[in-house]
Amino acid sequence: MTAYLRPNTLEEALAVREAHPEYTILAGGTDLLVSGHRVPPPPGIVDLFDLRPLRGIARDGDGSLRLGAATTYLDVLSSDTGREELSILRAAAREIGALQIQARGTLGGNLVTSSPVGDTLPVWLALGAEVELSSAGRGARRVAYDAFCTGYRQTDMAPDELVTAVTIPPPAPGTRRFWRKVGTRRAQSISKLMIAATARLENGLIAEPRIGLGALADRPIRGVAVERAMAGRPPDEDTAARAARALAAEITPIDDVRSSADYRLTVATNLVARFVRLLAEPA
Ligand SMILES: Cc1cc2nc3c(=O)[nH]c(=O)nc-3n(C[C@H](O)[C@H](O)[C@H](O)COP(=O)(O)OP(=O)(O)OC[C@H]3O[C@@H](n4cnc5c(N)ncnc54)[C@H](O)[C@@H]3O)c2cc1C
Repeated sequence: MTAYLRPNTLEEALAVREAHPEYTILAGGTDLLVSGHRVPPPPGIVDLFDLRPLRGIARDGDGSLRLGAATTYLDVLSSDTGREELSILRAAAREIGALQIQARGTLGGNLVTSSPVGDTLPVWLALGAEVELSSAGRGARRVAYDAFCTGYRQTDMAPDELVTAVTIPPPAPGTRRFWRKVGTRRAQSISKLMIAATARLENGLIAEPRIGLGALADRPIRGVAVERAMAGRPPDEDTAARAARALAAEITPIDDVRSSADYRLTVATNLVARFVRLLAEPA
């Protein structure tokens, strides 16, 4: 018999997590239910869906944004907080599954499943997000998203921890953002690749570029060499070509049922070049 617990407060949720790390954490259930028939029933389920302290988007005193782990995609799409900063998260949310999935699926679920095709994950890389992890015994800690995902479907979360939020630092004025999901069709498709990117112009030169790429490797990756190739250069055709070449030299995309490595590389380099051209356009 599986126990079913629905904590009313975060403290209660963390206490249960500490006492029963073997219980399954349930948020929207859209990942868990797909794989549920392949694993034995858990001894217990801790249902976090709609746990209020974990839901919603708020602005912290230092200007950063705090997105609760149980925030759904529909919440992201309907929230007015940080609309411009979160434009690429909203673009990703709009393309996740269909309305039913957007109404149930949560940011925390996408983070902890940590699939290479998790659509929000490159967005966290581009926005410089930190993941907040909390436990009853040690309180809260924050980990940069780059360090949170430690391998194929692996994360830095300890057995007594919950993901409680994602935080995003305030962006520099003039930051431009770019998101593209490429799949077999425009709606309801598993990504062949995703790119999330941010940068701004300082005296006409590209500053602080951050490029997050998904579905190209066993985990979401940062385009570090592309960023180096763009930084401090004008957003012209020469830089677009340099950035594309840097990406081609930096990554060896996976080759799987969803797409060939060649296709992924061609499209990814084209999209990096397109982002550079976007920076040249009026905001
Ligand atoms: C038809 C369909 C279409 C989909 N389309 C897409 C798509 O286009 N793009 C995409 O990225 N994904 C897609 N998904 C996958 C899924 O909807 C997302 O990954 C979603 O964000 C998962 O969130 P959830 O709340 O439903 O997670 P759940 O299924 O409830 O949980 C997923 C995992 O996270 C753990 N977990 C959840 N919350 C926490 C927490 N706060 N702390 C600790 N552990 C936690 C759970 O224990 C579990 O291991 C799709 C799924 C389906 C069924």
